[in-house]
Amino acid sequence: MSKIKIAELFYSIQGEGRYMGVPSVFLRTFGCNFKCAGFGMPKGQLSTEVEAIAQIADKFKLYEELPLVSTGCDSYASWDPRFKDLSPMLTTDAIAERIMEILPFNEWQDEHLVITGGEPLLGWQRAYPDLLNHPKMLGLKEITFETNGTQPLTPSFKQFLQEWAKKPPFMSREITFSVSAKLSCSGESREEAIKPEVVCEYQEAGYTYLKFVVATEEDAEEAIETADIYRANGFTGPVYLMPVGGVESVYTLNNRRVAELAMKNGLRYSDRLQVPLFKNEWGT
Ligand code: SF4
Repeated sequence: MSKIKIAELFYSIQGEGRYMGVPSVFLRTFGCNFKCAGFGMPKGQLSTEVEAIAQIADKFKLYEELPLVSTGCDSYASWDPRFKDLSPMLTTDAIAERIMEILPFNEWQDEHLVITGGEPLLGWQRAYPDLLNHPKMLGLKEITFETNGTQPLTPSFKQFLQEWAKKPPFMSREITFSVSAKLSCSGESREEAIKPEVVCEYQEAGYTYLKFVVATEEDAEEAIETADIYRANGFTGPVYLMPVGGVESVYTLNNRRVAELAMKNGLRYSDRLQVPLFKNEWGT
């Protein structure tokens, strides 16, 4: 039986993108190829908030005890090796059981599954078929992979998803790739972050859209230029702008401006409902 290292597994309302407002189970896998320490920082600077938390990492016995950060990656503990002991390695059987426990009717109804991270398409692609084929997961109709768009699908996983979408009893399950490609405000290099050929291939396995995290007009311009590069390579999906801000003070500085930038440029706006609704606490 396959195992997956799980940073968080919880039930909430999807706050972002296509499924905003939909009751969802979030499976947050451990591990990421980026750090995104530039989010919320002045241009060219990197956040050091996590460094201070890592100094006292021993103090935290549970993932949900960790402090929230206002700059850098807001899910830092899902990939930073200094917090890896807070993320257990669980069998796909244990994950399916736990999902049944947290679903309101202890079975899938209208809820959707979000596989997020970290970067969920790193090594765990080999384990997802075991999870999705589990008898308790048969009632699941919709999945979103929240990815940074840098990890190609393995041929076997792509084939699995294509078959899973048509598998009885539903014959038309919905698979979505929500691609949060990282712009320069993330602090990651463009060469590493922008991989149009990878994202275009996701389209062969599911509905795919781009969701850029932005704060300023300059970021929005970069998002538009970057989206054009994806389109030139065959990307056909929609493009969302989403405000930077893992904490309410940063989010409220940006959300209206980003909504206006989206309108001005004919793009979609994605909120981050988990921030105004739940203060972006762990497990939301
Ligand atoms: S890609 Fe996502 S999870 Fe990884 S460091 Fe960046 S914001 Fe965090």
